Amino acid sequence: MSLETDQIVRFERVSKTYGERNEMAALDAVDLVICRGTRVAVMGPSGSGKSTLLNLVCGLDTPTSGAVIFDGINLAERSDDDRTRLRREKIGMIFQTFNLLPTLTGVENVALPLRLKGMRTGEAEKKARSMLKRVGIIGQSGNRPDEMSGGERQRVAIARALVFEPPVLLADEPTGNLDSHTGDEILGLMDDLHNEYNTTILLVTHNEAAAAHCQRRLTLLDGRIVADVGE
Ligand code: ADP
Ligand code: MG
Repeated sequence: MSLETDQIVRFERVSKTYGERNEMAALDAVDLVICRGTRVAVMGPSGSGKSTLLNLVCGLDTPTSGAVIFDGINLAERSDDDRTRLRREKIGMIFQTFNLLPTLTGVENVALPLRLKGMRTGEAEKKARSMLKRVGIIGQSGNRPDEMSGGERQRVAIARALVFEPPVLLADEPTGNLDSHTGDEILGLMDDLHNEYNTTILLVTHNEAAAAHCQRRLTLLDGRIVADVGE
């Protein structure tokens, strides 16, 4: 395997500034290479740029300057549709706000990524139920998000991100609102996914125990990587 193809994510002096006035950059000239199959913990205080980094990796956000290369593709050179397709096929995402569709039940939310890939409803919902079982919420999976607790919604979001066995998983404090037992189960699931499919995982966390599931640890401060330990 060549060095180039071993890279799943590459940042070349990536900066991101929000707003018109030149406020402090959310990310400031970041260079970064992440190799396929690596689990990376992304740490740093609130406001240091962790969520911005994840949004740039998946092309939900575009850099103010510099280039984000995902699996050999310069994301800025592709259309919105191409970026959406790439996320559907390759990237599981767990956001802090869950982003579940309010009109769909838990099962339907989890089945959605499979439906979008063309799987039949019956088969997709069967897989969805089995993933929901693994994250421990099968009983409530016929409910809509507004009928669920925060923890249940979080598990549905996690099941949706994992159900299509994405080669890359981006998780923004996925266990932040869960009790430690459930949090450990979710981290175990992410380990299983990694072990089965060599999934590349970027895990934003404040939690040492969660970071210990990763072999590399990045620390951000004021939009810069101030420490990069492991791997
Ligand atoms: P973290 O996830 O580490 O808490 P963020 O990436 O969310 O940090 O934010 C980094 C910086 O960028 C913060 O100063 C934040 O206020 C700013 N920021 C993030 N998103 C936006 C946005 N959509 N509009 C304006 N400023 C933003
Ligand atoms: Mg954040």
